[in-house]
Amino acid sequence: MGYARYEIFRRGQTIEAGYDVPTTCEQPGCTERIDRGLAHLCGETPGGDDYGCGGYFCGRHLYMAPEGQRGERCILDRDNGTDPTVHSPDAMTVTFN
Ligand SMILES: [Zn+2]
Ligand SMILES: [Zn+2]
Repeated sequence: MGYARYEIFRRGQTIEAGYDVPTTCEQPGCTERIDRGLAHLCGETPGGDDYGCGGYFCGRHLYMAPEGQRGERCILDRDNGTDPTVHSPDAMTVTFN
């Protein structure tokens, strides 16, 4: 038994994951062919966790995790972890009528 192929639950859907499952980088506009192995995962756990979204990205769209954490992150999760202005309370005052 290995991690070539397995099912995970992600954002309300069951999907196949593993390094034997071909996919395309999930960064919008990127067409890089990758697989759903842990090497391409954003976060520490397939399906997403407190650290990452569970998306799969190519080497150009994955970044080292912040100090003291494991795995890699996509640009969005990497920014949320390092840039305090993202969590500005002003962002929550917008209303749509
Ligand atoms: Zn992510
Ligand atoms: Zn990419």
